[in-house]
Amino acid sequence: MLHFIRSDLAQLTAYSPHPGGTTGQPVTGTLDRLDTNENPLDLPTELKQKLAWVYQHEMEANRYPDGSHGALKAAIAAYVNESTPAPCGITPEQISVGNGSDELIRSILIATCLRGEGAILVANPTFSMYAITAHTLGIPVVTVGRSDPDFAIDLTAAQSALEQTHTPPIRVVFVVHPNSPTANALTSAELDWLRQIPSHVLVVIDEAYFEFSQTSVVDELAHHPNWVILRTFSKAFRLASHRVGYAIANPDLIAILEKIRLPYNLPAFSLAAAQLVMEHRQQLLADIAEILAERDRLGQGLTQHPRLRVWPSQANFIYVRLRDAVDGELSTLCQELKRRGTLVRHISDGLRITIGTAAENQRTLAHLQATLAVR
Ligand SMILES: *Cc1c(COP(=O)(O)O)cnc(C)c1O
Repeated sequence: MLHFIRSDLAQLTAYSPHPGGTTGQPVTGTLDRLDTNENPLDLPTELKQKLAWVYQHEMEANRYPDGSHGALKAAIAAYVNESTPAPCGITPEQISVGNGSDELIRSILIATCLRGEGAILVANPTFSMYAITAHTLGIPVVTVGRSDPDFAIDLTAAQSALEQTHTPPIRVVFVVHPNSPTANALTSAELDWLRQIPSHVLVVIDEAYFEFSQTSVVDELAHHPNWVILRTFSKAFRLASHRVGYAIANPDLIAILEKIRLPYNLPAFSLAAAQLVMEHRQQLLADIAEILAERDRLGQGLTQHPRLRVWPSQANFIYVRLRDAVDGELSTLCQELKRRGTLVRHISDGLRITIGTAAENQRTLAHLQATLAVR
């Protein structure tokens, strides 16, 4: 019908944060949103009040925001340096800030693969936005698998894909550290493989869950001009609603990302929120310990159930599969959980369950218990 639209877009499906919707009718009246890996805690009230104060007294609604992100980049560089045990001396010139790391993913794809010049490589199951965004830009996606017991990347397949993909060649490899939905950090074999990828291929290491895993490759960046690390304020720092992410890389690559982004990609309110959480990072990061303790509790509870196969997690979510599942059983389970008031994400033969508050996690266990007992 819309004859002016690119023909390849008709087949695409948009990313859907809550595939079944959050509306439904949970019998309990509360719906625990444990399907998007957000932090269960909102910003503390006093920080919201500070932000409101900044809006009232310092922000000029009629002026464009600071398009250089200078102050925020300085704050992020300081945070990155202090959170890395090995000194890495990251400077603000090594940071680019995006409207969520989703924007940075798109900028990276625009910078590397457009005009038919490149394809991307991903190991499924993994974060879906790499492939979705590539497809919207007409960029081919090459996929390899992961092994069953531990979801390690099939490195033999990945290496041969790198060597044998020619029209167009693979220009970007995307990995998540730790991976979503499977919650495993990169192994030393995977890291060794990434280290030997030739310099004409960009390696994107998405550390969206860094604050939960405390594993980072930032101290190796200086040795790898073809690496870029992505981080976000959407998870540990509780700012999912404000859409702020950042990339860390060598200054030349950052200069390219800065060229590609829209001049005022971050609204003033989001910039202020990100700066505020950087100023109060110690206070906010102190709450991570409780989420990790809850992760242990939820993990133990899930492991008790004979039908659930539970994987260890380095992030703020847990991946489980159903033993001896019959066709469609997992979808039914998901719908039933939602009906009882727990939203989880159904991805590639498994469920990804975000760690919520203690009360939410108890309800998750109770709802799973009740649902699985019926069959
Ligand atoms: C949640 C998440 C992000 C964050 O994206 P934003 O656009 O910054 O909200 C990025 N990568 C992965 C793997 C994620 O799970």
